[in-house]
Amino acid sequence: MPRGSEQSDFLVIGAGIAGASAAYELQRFGSVRVLEAEPQPGAHTTGRSAAFLVESYGNTTVQRLTRASRSFLEDPPDGFSSLPILKPRPSLTIARPDQCQRLQDHTKLAVEAGARLESVTPEVAEKLCPVLRPGHVAAAMIEPHARSIDVAALLEGFLRGLRARGGCLEKNRRVSGLRRDGDAWQVSCGEARYGAKVVVDAAGAWGEVVGHLAGARPVGLRPLRRTAITFDPPAGADIQSWPCLLDADEEFYLKPEGAQLLASPCDETPSEPCDAHPDDLAVARAADRVQRATTLDVRHIRRRWAGLRSFVADRSPVIGFDGALPGFFWLVGQGGFGIMTSSGAARTAAGLIVDGKLPAAIRETGLCEADLSPEREALRRT
Ligand SMILES: Cc1cc2nc3c(=O)[nH]c(=O)nc-3n(C[C@H](O)[C@H](O)[C@H](O)COP(=O)(O)OP(=O)(O)OC[C@H]3O[C@@H](n4cnc5c(N)ncnc54)[C@H](O)[C@@H]3O)c2cc1C
Repeated sequence: MPRGSEQSDFLVIGAGIAGASAAYELQRFGSVRVLEAEPQPGAHTTGRSAAFLVESYGNTTVQRLTRASRSFLEDPPDGFSSLPILKPRPSLTIARPDQCQRLQDHTKLAVEAGARLESVTPEVAEKLCPVLRPGHVAAAMIEPHARSIDVAALLEGFLRGLRARGGCLEKNRRVSGLRRDGDAWQVSCGEARYGAKVVVDAAGAWGEVVGHLAGARPVGLRPLRRTAITFDPPAGADIQSWPCLLDADEEFYLKPEGAQLLASPCDETPSEPCDAHPDDLAVARAADRVQRATTLDVRHIRRRWAGLRSFVADRSPVIGFDGALPGFFWLVGQGGFGIMTSSGAARTAAGLIVDGKLPAAIRETGLCEADLSPEREALRRT
């Protein structure tokens, strides 16, 4: 190791939920340093999520990772957080007549993967969410055990736990160079130098940029912008009893968020990695789609924002060592599920890094290394 560089066993790039949770798990097995480009952790996608946990969300791999995360999020270790991480918020997926088949297909796959879903009649759906436009819903499915997540408390819990176990987070440290030197990595951030046996790429939308710095073949990561808005509910409405409303084709979702309602048009606009901003069209679409499905009047938009959800071709996360770069570990592609899958993904990463295999509890969900590997066929790396 060159003189003057700070050494650790594991160096994690990025302090969003992926990097923070992986660092928390890795600290049990050696020294950990997290480098974050921004002045605050969670400043990019993690701080911009809609904060829900829905077991039936995403593909089978994602659903398994969400289930693997659930017990930790529900009952984290003592001292992790003074606030509950999860709060009850059932989800209600609704289908118009033309969407019924899609709802049926998705439900079948989700139930096969272990999600707990119940079919409800349109009348029951309208009772659960009294602003649904009469006649809009032809079929509906409820996930009674869906939850909202306190993302700030979760991120802070992982970082507090990391520090308590002796790990460190350095902010304002944008990694600008990665070089393999013998059996270790040399990492530079401007003038600062770090050395580590293992580097974990948890750079979110910048995951491919960091991979490129290390000389890795691309995994095909695509950042897609998603927009969200909040607006006032109708006066006197008891929104806390409402479910999180999901359209069967992901045309929009709507959920209570504090005293406001949060909605998204589920846009997926390709973007460079950047500090994402909402565009007016997506904001207008959010309002329009909510108004078509409900009797809500979305006139006074309180907040609008956008974040980048990053996917690879098969929409499963990429968790594993690069096949050609020893000690370079990918933890990217968390798409729209990185918060709900965080604990399972972090334990998966730690297991693969330390033992070279998935922890037993993760394997029990039906997942195997190949589902997540950066070398898997679906990514067609060239
Ligand atoms: C509108 C919206 C709604 C969502 N809703 C949900 C939801 O309900 N439930 C759910 O589970 N997920 C949801 N998601 C997805 C979730 O937010 C993401 O999957 C998750 O936050 C990704 O975390 P991350 O740590 O990979 O990325 P990020 O949070 O973006 O963290 C990556 C970090 O890496 C840093 N970085 C980048 N390059 C470098 C470098 N060179 N050196 C050092 N640091 C670097 C960045 O500054 C950043 O802080 C939503 C996302 C959006 C946008």
